Amino acid sequence: MKVDIHQISDSGLSIDYEVRENVSSSYLAKDDEVSARLAGMVSPDSSAGYVFSGNLEINCILVCDKCLNEAAYSSYSDISEKFSKDVSEGRWSINGDELDFTEVIRANICALLPMKILCTDNCQGLCPMCGKNLNEEQCECEKPIDPRFAHLSSFFKEEV
Ligand SMILES: [Zn+2]
Ligand SMILES: [Zn+2]
Repeated sequence: MKVDIHQISDSGLSIDYEVRENVSSSYLAKDDEVSARLAGMVSPDSSAGYVFSGNLEINCILVCDKCLNEAAYSSYSDISEKFSKDVSEGRWSINGDELDFTEVIRANICALLPMKILCTDNCQGLCPMCGKNLNEEQCECEKPIDPRFAHLSSFFKEEV
């Protein structure tokens, strides 16, 4: 994912990369892989640097925070990144005659990954007593009653 700056004309260079990146995240499923597609334009800017403007799309498998099943996740973001010979000028430095997008993609993948994910909005999670996946089967465990609602449950019993 390196762009030779000689390929970038005054009007810019259009790029479109599809990559698979290994990113460490505790919510990524075992293979830790994220597929990403970066597409957009790299153009020279006034400060003798380059600007990439485009978007990044990611697809990966995450592990549900409640039931630990795998759930597909995808996200998309417009991004704009600046490359410069002088790092203080831009976020990314120009290495010789090349713009290296490897770290740009990794950093943006990490920004797009959520802190946690649920497989469905109403995931039932695992039984805290026996560990069964309550989306797949019910168990016989007595559920502990949240003390905040204990008075409500006795209220409903009286109603029946
Ligand atoms: Zn779940
Ligand atoms: Zn149980």
